[in-house]
Amino acid sequence: MRKPIALCNKNIFALFLLAIISIAANAQSKIGKDFLLGRFDYTKDTSFIKVNGRYADNVTYLQKTTYAAYKKMYAAALKDGIKLNIISGTRSFDNQSSIWKAKWNDPQFAAIENTAARVTELLRWSSMPGTSRHHWGTDMDLVTLQPEYFNTHAGKKMYAWMQKNAATYGFYQPFTADRETGYKEEKWHWSYLPLSKLYLNEYVKQITYTDINGFDGYIAAEEIKAIDNWVLGVNLACK
Ligand SMILES: [Zn+2]
Repeated sequence: MRKPIALCNKNIFALFLLAIISIAANAQSKIGKDFLLGRFDYTKDTSFIKVNGRYADNVTYLQKTTYAAYKKMYAAALKDGIKLNIISGTRSFDNQSSIWKAKWNDPQFAAIENTAARVTELLRWSSMPGTSRHHWGTDMDLVTLQPEYFNTHAGKKMYAWMQKNAATYGFYQPFTADRETGYKEEKWHWSYLPLSKLYLNEYVKQITYTDINGFDGYIAAEEIKAIDNWVLGVNLACK
């Protein structure tokens, strides 16, 4: 009688192990729609971490893997006399909605009667909630959001350093100058590609225009092709 029981226990143990592995795998590949659209609380997500004040002006979060790579890049830049600083890391759907709402109601945009035209103009400055790479904990704005800064000596030095070295640490610039669609050039926005490339891929597979909603002007997302032109309007190296 003992042997079958032992076997049975073994099987239960194997099943238990399998269940644990599959739970872990699911947690690891929690790349569902909510994640891709920023509809989750990154402050409570165990794969995210609050960035130490040494690296950022404001309270901000990144995915732990992104953060580890960033710290290495930060140290290397500092050695070369360049002080990087995170202006903005992870932003949730709700964070992005607040930004969007403020701009939507700004007289400059409110004056545009046609919804698609108003959204398109707004997209020169901000992402639609649910379409921002900042949702993923892989992307960050560094040092400044002012394009003019990159014409100064310090700005040119920083950008040249990033162009030469960022890729060594996994960071790439999604919004380069040489694109046909999407946001204006952003020399401050850098993305941790080992993760974000995977997320962009999943975004294309899982997200459709019906998933983009819950904010002013969302109705125009399909008409202006927000996914094709903006989400996918990145530097070729980031696809
Ligand atoms: Zn950004």
